[in-house]
Amino acid sequence: MSKLGYDDTPLLPGEQWQVHDFRRPQPRVVAPGKECCQPPADAVILFDGSNLSGWTGRDGDAAWKVENGYMEVVPRTGNISTRERFGDCQLHLEFACPTEIKGESQGRGNSGVFMMGLYEIQVLDGYDNPTYADGITASVYGEYPPLVNSCRPPGEWQTYEIIWTAPRFSGVDLVSPAYLTLLHNGVLVHNHVELMGPTGHRNVYPYQAHAPTGPLMLQDHGDLVRFRNIWYRPIGTYDQE
Ligand code: MG
Repeated sequence: MSKLGYDDTPLLPGEQWQVHDFRRPQPRVVAPGKECCQPPADAVILFDGSNLSGWTGRDGDAAWKVENGYMEVVPRTGNISTRERFGDCQLHLEFACPTEIKGESQGRGNSGVFMMGLYEIQVLDGYDNPTYADGITASVYGEYPPLVNSCRPPGEWQTYEIIWTAPRFSGVDLVSPAYLTLLHNGVLVHNHVELMGPTGHRNVYPYQAHAPTGPLMLQDHGDLVRFRNIWYRPIGTYDQE
């Protein structure tokens, strides 16, 4: 591993880059504006800041801390997932990385937003913190860097607006892949990108047939990352054969 990434990982399909390629260009920095985003009338609230009753953890109930209207990772208690399962959606959430800067690259303010429990949109303190491009904040981990780096400084609340199209399967066969559009702090960072498959470290995984709905999962990567104001709106129906 070089300081910022790897040169011994698989080539990404259809790309000139390897997974976590240290040579892949860094996204340009764009400073975001100030404000966003209360839930609209038809939103399904996944976390309103009061409790984690809608979430499960490794040993049953979610063991993360809730205080002052946010949840915070309790390291080594594991990832947490919504009881709610959903497919195509518009999803909003807010996160904040620790004010106190600890670590560098992937070791600073790392968490993750896993759509359907499988497809990670990276959460990281990517403010003045170089790392491999496909692992910076708002990357589709190991697949796509964001179009730009629109991070706020550590400690400040940041937003993701996710437009998600779930993959479709017929039996064990992939009919259509997952698609993602993402705004980070109101700035477009992915425009209907086609996911190559479930995300992972140092690898790209092939699609494997799964249910048309799944949970939202948040990652315990050992850092004290906070989340608040999490809601989604379903798009269309999830009926499929
Ligand atoms: Mg992560």
